[in-house]
Amino acid sequence: MRANSSHSAARTRLATYRKKRDFQLTEEPQAGRPTRGGDSFVIQKHAASHLHYDFRLELDGVLLSWAVPKGPSTRAGERRLAMRTEDHPLDYAGFEGIIPQGQYGGGSVIVWDRGRWIPDGDPRAGLKKGHLAFELKGEKLSGRWHLVRTKNERESWLLFKSEDEGSSDRDIVADMPKSVVSGRSVEEIGEKPGRVWLPKDLQLTHPDKVLFEDVGATKETLALYYLSVAEPMLALIANRPLALLRCPDGAGKGCFYQKHAKDLPKSIHRVQVQERGAAKTEHTYIDSKEGLLAMAQLGVLELHTWGCHEDNIERPDQLVFDLDPDIGLPWKKVVDGALEVRGFLEALGLTSFVKTTGGKGLHVVAPIERRIDWEAFKAFAHHVVLAIEASDPERYVTNPLKKVRKGKIFLDYLRNGRGATAVAPYSTRAREGATVSTPLEWDELTPKLDPRKLNILTLPERLHQLGGKLPWRDYDQVKQSITAAAQRKVARGKN
Ligand code: MN
Repeated sequence: MRANSSHSAARTRLATYRKKRDFQLTEEPQAGRPTRGGDSFVIQKHAASHLHYDFRLELDGVLLSWAVPKGPSTRAGERRLAMRTEDHPLDYAGFEGIIPQGQYGGGSVIVWDRGRWIPDGDPRAGLKKGHLAFELKGEKLSGRWHLVRTKNERESWLLFKSEDEGSSDRDIVADMPKSVVSGRSVEEIGEKPGRVWLPKDLQLTHPDKVLFEDVGATKETLALYYLSVAEPMLALIANRPLALLRCPDGAGKGCFYQKHAKDLPKSIHRVQVQERGAAKTEHTYIDSKEGLLAMAQLGVLELHTWGCHEDNIERPDQLVFDLDPDIGLPWKKVVDGALEVRGFLEALGLTSFVKTTGGKGLHVVAPIERRIDWEAFKAFAHHVVLAIEASDPERYVTNPLKKVRKGKIFLDYLRNGRGATAVAPYSTRAREGATVSTPLEWDELTPKLDPRKLNILTLPERLHQLGGKLPWRDYDQVKQSITAAAQRKVARGKN
């Protein structure tokens, strides 16, 4: 047949098709190719809210379309209802896949049959008259067919087969359910894509289990999150003993801390820690992506680290100052507080880093070479916060027992004791909004920064945008010690 309309006419005819779809959301083709006067036909099996077969005939640069609820019958004369629908672009003939739920025609689509059609006479006249007679040369369907418009309703047609060598008594839609393109059934297309990113020995059970209800994040979301932050996170937490907050039923639902190792997968390692007296306890640590994925599998929503590594438990190597503001204290004051702590440490010759806690506080963190023991380490941290408190007692408080913290920032140095922990960088929090304890550059720390916007859903994109320039990337390059001079200086309170 000859094309008698231009490409732009075809585009006009596709206005309805385009209007019904949001091409940001669906992968269906957006527009047709220029008209070539082709004679293709396609039948797509479409598992939408109601299963049907879309019968499409190419004419003048578009696919004329009918939805056939029961599909075509090869039994001569057996009529099947065919509702005329909007013209589709030619590219649609190759479409096989999933239309997202909530979108027009949400569900899965396969190419059930395809080939050429040869109309009797001029199909445009037939279309007008309400009777198309044609031959199909498809992979499943062949022989002569009819589409006849019923008298009453304009868009209601009947599709049926003539008696010939292509007719048969078999139930062809039941006998031949699969795609002529991919060999898959509509059910197979509809299945979630394989989780190829998971290591073979670690399958997620219940990937759809919701762990953060308010943001709709599932166990799979958490696993994908940990994968996206694995590299910078592992650089900071690998081989540090851990305390794990497990919430198998989701945030806020029966969470418990697991400090000691028992019944854990291989990728979560164990380290013996000598307790006071003769007793030893087993703690956990990880050093791989598999370890992080195992955390997701176990429903671990928070990882907290010790300030040391498993190969030298008795030599701390990470100072943490936790700024814990009184409820209602403006964020700007917390920001100022962190900058002040940074300044104090700088005066003692120590470079520090900052991260959000996932709550309203901040952690100022300094890497330290492994020289002094826990006792001296904690004493130094205590002296630092006492000096800061002494500099402005209206703003800071250091005594955890002191009830009166109103309008102040509690400077918590107790994270620096043996066996104490602080939430790990890039750990999620089992809190509202699935916030993340996020490493920052110091110049990102401004009153404008909203720590709630740093969460399980936004972090992967943040890291992507930062590219190689991640905050804390120099953490391991900083070689500094708590010197005897610094200890003396801070103990005298002269900072
Ligand atoms: Mn359809």
